[in-house]
Amino acid sequence: MTQWPDLANLDPELVARYDKRGPRYTSYPTAPHFSPEVDLEELEQRIRGTSTVSEGEVLPVSVYVHVPYCRRKCLYCGCHSVAICSENQPSEYLDVVLAELALWHKQLGPGRRAAQLALGGGSPATLEAEGLTRLVRALDEAFVPLDDAERSIELDPYRTDESLLDCLLDVGFTKLSFGIQDFEPDVLNKVGRHEDPTTVERLLGHLRGRGFDTVSFDLMVGLPGQTDETWARTLDRVLELGPSRLAIFPYAHVPWMMPHQKALERYEMPDSDQRLGFYAMAHRILGESGYVPVGIDHFAKADDELIVAAREHRLHRNFMGYTTRPGLDLVGLGVSAISDLGAAYAQNLKDTEVYRERVEARHLALERGILLDAEDELRRAVIMSLLCNFWVDLDASARRFGLDWRTAFAEDLERLQPLVDDGLVERDGLGEEAGYRLTITTVGLAFVRLVCMIFDRYLDHAAGPETKQRYSRTL
Ligand code: SF4
Repeated sequence: MTQWPDLANLDPELVARYDKRGPRYTSYPTAPHFSPEVDLEELEQRIRGTSTVSEGEVLPVSVYVHVPYCRRKCLYCGCHSVAICSENQPSEYLDVVLAELALWHKQLGPGRRAAQLALGGGSPATLEAEGLTRLVRALDEAFVPLDDAERSIELDPYRTDESLLDCLLDVGFTKLSFGIQDFEPDVLNKVGRHEDPTTVERLLGHLRGRGFDTVSFDLMVGLPGQTDETWARTLDRVLELGPSRLAIFPYAHVPWMMPHQKALERYEMPDSDQRLGFYAMAHRILGESGYVPVGIDHFAKADDELIVAAREHRLHRNFMGYTTRPGLDLVGLGVSAISDLGAAYAQNLKDTEVYRERVEARHLALERGILLDAEDELRRAVIMSLLCNFWVDLDASARRFGLDWRTAFAEDLERLQPLVDDGLVERDGLGEEAGYRLTITTVGLAFVRLVCMIFDRYLDHAAGPETKQRYSRTL
């Protein structure tokens, strides 16, 4: 597997030079480039024209459902979520999602099966056991799950109880993802969470008692109050609890988009050096305990399916993180949900009321999107390979789209040269065409998002990093 660098001892000059803002590339083009000006009719036509059959088989889909409600708003939250204001809100919202599901089912035609189902938000658990059961049953009817379909759900463990877990297992969830962020009481208090520290252990004990062990933890680095000592204690606690997977995300401080985050500015926040130190510690401590890094921000136990997929170059990155099923059409249901199919991205309306009105008028609730041309698809393939495999064959990628790599990437390769000179990327390949294969070096693994940015044609490369202010820090 990939050997990561000692992140705590990177050359400080290198860190200073590449400490920039940039996208996280859960899609390409990234969501800020989806436009309300997109031709929605063309978008819907592309959705209808999505290739449903390959080699005689109907292609399965991946379905994501966004539930925007939470019991309270966490100060670091970067998701499209709102604090619940009446107990009926989630179930009324569910009625609209089910109506939207029927519209999508009609658009895509019969026979599409589900390879993946993911519920996220917000907190899907606000639908409670009854709503979740209703939702899963309706989804199963519309998109009959494959025998080996994955079903995952994001959970706020502190707003989850044993009876809800029982319901999730009974309706066939295969992966539960706990939004932990940190175990340190002081850190949690600062971000607006006041939790009982015994909760996670109790819930895991219950799941394991039922023979279920596929639980993933989401952690976050860069929160106020985090120090080397607190982070070490959090990692120790993680090891005691032993989740099957972990994702460690950098806190994205973007108060111009998420005004509630301003409340955190009264605290000192870890800088890029400290964040790298936290990642370094995570790599060391988790590695010593048998966890293997996957992609830029995930870890899994050595026998996990993600590790196998990484080894076989089957990893895929999307809005839910890394997954093992590449190339699926993604149908997004619910406010702000993003669909990815038919060489197009389409994002739903973010305003719940307008979303409801649109669905009740029997229209898909699309608000913005982007139609991909061949160059977008090529660049998406390049960026995806860099994020999932840490290498890309530019020649093979360009040829798939009938292009010559030297012409297609002439400007990109010029922009890439300083990163090659700094030892972040190696260029090789055979014969006269040498240079078409890019490999991220061990040191370069700390800067993968910056390498991806080189190939992003929507960024203003001539402008300084200040103009990329709308993005979060890459380190
Ligand atoms: S529970 Fe998750 S989605 Fe809800 S406010 Fe907190 S971080 Fe955001």
